Amino acid sequence: MAQQTKISWTDSTWNPWKGCNKVSKACDGCYMDRAMTRDGQNSRVVVKQEVEFNRPYQWSGRKIFTCSMSDFFHHAADEWRDAAWEVIKNTPQHTYLILTKRPERIKDHLPKDWCREKYKHVWLGVTVEYQETVHRIHTLGEIPCEVKWVSFEPLFGEVFLTEKELKIIQWGVIGGMSGYSSGPFKYEKTEKTWFLSLMYQLRSYKIPIFFKQLGTYYHDHEFKVKDWSGEKYCERYPDVFKIRQYPAYRYGEKEIDYLNNKTYGNK
Ligand code: SF4
Repeated sequence: MAQQTKISWTDSTWNPWKGCNKVSKACDGCYMDRAMTRDGQNSRVVVKQEVEFNRPYQWSGRKIFTCSMSDFFHHAADEWRDAAWEVIKNTPQHTYLILTKRPERIKDHLPKDWCREKYKHVWLGVTVEYQETVHRIHTLGEIPCEVKWVSFEPLFGEVFLTEKELKIIQWGVIGGMSGYSSGPFKYEKTEKTWFLSLMYQLRSYKIPIFFKQLGTYYHDHEFKVKDWSGEKYCERYPDVFKIRQYPAYRYGEKEIDYLNNKTYGNK
């Protein structure tokens, strides 16, 4: 059985370990923290998931978001990571989407035989939630990798990218902050102009965009639709944000036109 997920840009999640520590503002609304706290678990302790560890061997080809409940490059997982790389290497039918907020640790924690050709099915990504974390793109740029991607989610401000940064990015995922209207996991409002500016910049360099969600704020305040994830398309959801593309490798560079329910190339 595939690990079911509501994360729209992936088919499945795989968590060889779970638990993590906050490293930047994007961690404020951490899904893992929210889920583990709700279940009465200590989200700060990183634990190996024995039952999950070899799960990808049981699946046919799919997009796998790796470590949705942790950070693949977290230091507490150093002793297990080589075994996880072994699973990844032996299951090239999948595409592994690895997203980190610790890109400075990537270089020293890749498998010994790492090269772009051998690990074509691994896409390495970094989170950039506001201007102060744009430097992560430069660190990512130093790693040979088939697809380098950036998750601009949850976005907390307008981000300005240089030509050098835009030339590194091969896929951009964009989203606002999901969460609750009150309490410790309260969402923040995202300005639509931040998204539009970012989309314009990525578009200028023909970078595929997966616009995930506007953020729960808009559903609560503007659309008046109950949707915790902030992804539900409703009558008032602006068409300009209905864009979900993937890089050409494996999935074809496609744009999904939700309005007309069809897909078409994006060259
Ligand atoms: S790095 Fe990811 S998993 Fe870890 S605390 Fe931050 S958001 Fe959560």
